[in-house]
Amino acid sequence: MQKLEQLYEGKAKKVYATDDPELYIVDYKDDATAFNGEKRGTIVGKGVINNQMSNYLMKRLEKEGVPTHFVEELSERETLVKKVQIVPLEVIIRNIAAGSFSKRYGVPEGEPFASPTIEFSYKNDDLGDPLINSYHVLAMKLATPEEIETIKKYAFKVNEVLSAFWSECGVTLVDFKLEFGRLADGTIVLADEISPDTCRLWDKATGEKLDKDRFRRDLGGVEDAYAEVMRRLREHDA
Ligand code: ADP
Ligand code: UDP
Repeated sequence: MQKLEQLYEGKAKKVYATDDPELYIVDYKDDATAFNGEKRGTIVGKGVINNQMSNYLMKRLEKEGVPTHFVEELSERETLVKKVQIVPLEVIIRNIAAGSFSKRYGVPEGEPFASPTIEFSYKNDDLGDPLINSYHVLAMKLATPEEIETIKKYAFKVNEVLSAFWSECGVTLVDFKLEFGRLADGTIVLADEISPDTCRLWDKATGEKLDKDRFRRDLGGVEDAYAEVMRRLREHDA
């Protein structure tokens, strides 16, 4: 597999073309941003952890019937993925109130929900990723009704599989963001990444935050938190 030209540089990853028109290489950086790019920094070693964690979790999800873009881990920071056309939605599942949910609805952070919630944001940096509902999605032709149903079904399945997995690691899966894409034939698959950048992960025993909130909220110990969740994940299968 040959790595060809860089197609895109995002906030956390670079995307490269390959000599196969259906495959991309993603390259994970240590760069961290928050609040729509207003806060910037570096989390040393994050790219390696996010790459390896995301690949591990996507492999688990594939086994449980959720199709993903994952093909092969090429190096510590690089992964071969199926090229998709990203559905421009951030799909957010929540089990416990936190972050923007707590702010918006006045529910204290840490309050568990009677049942998990799903919400969509319109993936558009210029607009600050505004909340959007399925009628808006249809009106703007961002996805078809069938695609929305498939995305919802997979997102809740991801929550079931990952909540159980993280629980076995002594970690509570509070909430997370997913992105989906279309393969050339239109099949919907899970894309992008699943990592402490995109999930809220709390230590089950102490409630300690083991995710990007340590960076967003200047809590310190950011690198240690990423390393700790990665250690728990590795220990799970050891
Ligand atoms: P951002 O664009 O939000 O700054 P990243 O730095 O993570 O985010 O950049 C990665 C980009 O690649 C994102 O825009 C993401 O939607 C996109 N992407 C993720 N997986 C795939 C894939 N399999 N095919 C095409 N694009 C992808
Ligand atoms: N999230 C993400 N990317 C975003 C926005 C949110 O990965 O652009 C994740 C975030 O890490 C958290 C979940 O989605 O796990 C819910 O985030 P929330 O809406 O509470 O936003 P925030 O508090 O980050 O503003």
